[in-house]
Amino acid sequence: MEASSRAFFDTRVFAICDGDSIEAFTDIQGDVNFPGESVLNIKAFLESSMVTIFDGSSNPAMQLIKNPSDPLNPIIIFDYYGYIGNPSNQYYHSVKYIDWLCESVFSAPLQYPRLDIITGCTMPEQGKYFPGDSVIKINHETGMFCSSICHEMTHALVYNQLDLNFFSPFPPNLQNEILYGGMDEAFSFYYPCAYRDDATYRYPTLTIELAD
Ligand SMILES: [Zn+2]
Repeated sequence: MEASSRAFFDTRVFAICDGDSIEAFTDIQGDVNFPGESVLNIKAFLESSMVTIFDGSSNPAMQLIKNPSDPLNPIIIFDYYGYIGNPSNQYYHSVKYIDWLCESVFSAPLQYPRLDIITGCTMPEQGKYFPGDSVIKINHETGMFCSSICHEMTHALVYNQLDLNFFSPFPPNLQNEILYGGMDEAFSFYYPCAYRDDATYRYPTLTIELAD
């Protein structure tokens, strides 16, 4: 998908309005107006036109969907509580990071894949990008931070800018890993820090000072 700043939509919502299923995206304030006398089954998805967030603490991973807690006051807030892997934090930063890449790194629209992001995963790695499936998995312990999600999203950027076949070990083999893995990793540590304007790259239990 071609991504250019502010050209994509943020937060998909759904309702049945006078019997018709209506889907929309929230506006910049996070609001949406559903028309009709009878508005039922309101729900919101942690999904923009670029990323969809899934709950990796269940198997299979389920898409993050939420209904209003009070039908008379249909406000939906995705907060930190009650979720593993802080999916709202991962959603917020994944959307902002694409914005930032478009505004600060590239002057023209860039080729960027639509991504499914599965957060709250239990696995040895902090994060993992699967180019063939356009999937990113994020460890449940690293969801509080944005370094890992931005790191894996940078791998997705590198793979796509280079047509899935230049920098990174894809297909995975030792020669590709040695030749090209280093620069791919370097970009993936540098850009997440530049995005935050902070040279500290954060894991849950340790930090890496890029300034050192
Ligand atoms: Zn990496």
